[in-house]
Amino acid sequence: MKVDYIIVGLGLAGIAVSNELERHNRSFIVFENHSQNSSIVAGGMYNPVILKRFTPVWDAEDQLKIALTFYQNLEQKLKQTYHKPLDIYRIFKSIEEQNNWFAASDHKDLSKYFVTTVVKNENEGIMAPYGFGKLVHTGKIDTKNLISDYSNYLKNKDLIKCNSFNYNQIQIKPKGIVYENITASKIIFCEGFGIKSNPFFNYLPLQEAKGELITMYAPKLKIDFLIKAAVFVMPLGDDLYKVGATFNWVDKTNKPTDDGKKELVEKLNSFIKVPYTIVDHSAGIRPTVKDRRPLVGVHPIYKNMAILNGLGTRGVMIAPKMAKKLYQLIENEIQLENEISINRFDSYLKEG
Ligand SMILES: Cc1cc2nc3c(=O)[nH]c(=O)nc-3n(C[C@H](O)[C@H](O)[C@H](O)COP(=O)(O)OP(=O)(O)OC[C@H]3O[C@@H](n4cnc5c(N)ncnc54)[C@H](O)[C@@H]3O)c2cc1C
Repeated sequence: MKVDYIIVGLGLAGIAVSNELERHNRSFIVFENHSQNSSIVAGGMYNPVILKRFTPVWDAEDQLKIALTFYQNLEQKLKQTYHKPLDIYRIFKSIEEQNNWFAASDHKDLSKYFVTTVVKNENEGIMAPYGFGKLVHTGKIDTKNLISDYSNYLKNKDLIKCNSFNYNQIQIKPKGIVYENITASKIIFCEGFGIKSNPFFNYLPLQEAKGELITMYAPKLKIDFLIKAAVFVMPLGDDLYKVGATFNWVDKTNKPTDDGKKELVEKLNSFIKVPYTIVDHSAGIRPTVKDRRPLVGVHPIYKNMAILNGLGTRGVMIAPKMAKKLYQLIENEIQLENEISINRFDSYLKEG
């Protein structure tokens, strides 16, 4: 088999890359071994405001514009709906926070997202004596169904192999890559935290930020917006709500833990008064970089190998734009900004 590209990993990064290649009529084959599930368990929210400090997310405006078109195109391609607009209600902890909210709402990049009046809490199931700050034009992507449908789409075209990519089997040739019976001009690695097993790119400083989530059944809560307080509560329909997420920088497994659940329940109980039942509990590892920027680029030595990773806590917004940037770098030699390029870590390769 001869293809233009091999792609390793079909999370949000892999989907964005394969979609970009397909748009440009490049042939490819994807490998996916289900070893990571960050994109599957993710809340799927997109939101251009950092809710701790009420400051803008890096490059959010441009990323969001590209991302919303990207998901709309996927909806048309797969004939399903994944995007759901969802307002965010941030519980204020004090008068001071209300004032900070008003100050932030003047920001030129953010004003269209902020509702500038304090929203009074009228839901007896929620504790919010200082009210809410409301954000609009925010929403979520149903990443779980998107990945499942996209994987089936590729299966129907015989473009995915559901097994592990074995790094030891790569043969690097002057004009490309040979892997098993596949000859490819290039290979793009999109393995999320799986990068740690990749001998070509594991010099990059990817940190694991494990996150756990629970799903609760809470028939008396009755909200159709996302609440953000100590944790977020996201409506899923049918009185189900996703609650998350924890941050754990030590545990490198995808397994849900009792400690994770306990933390989520304690935080949830600090602002929710209605009874609920926990019906699901999941965990994944966010592929995070210490400077909070993605890892995009071509290997400094092996020029036929490229990477899209480091999407951190905001893969939904970042992945589509970064896939475009990577494609333009590989195919048209349009250089990347230093802040996203893996070149910023070249010294790590020499040290390693
Ligand atoms: C609890 C939690 C909540 C989150 N909430 C949000 C949110 O609300 N909004 C948001 O934007 N982001 C959120 N994120 C972050 C988001 O999920 C990530 O940024 C994004 O999913 C990373 O995508 P990825 O494709 O790089 O990695 P992954 O989703 O991990 O995908 C990598 C893929 O590569 C495969 N793979 C790895 N190694 C191999 C190999 N050797 N052979 C074959 N296949 C391989 C894995 O099985 C996996 O499918 C959340 C993450 C977590 C954990």
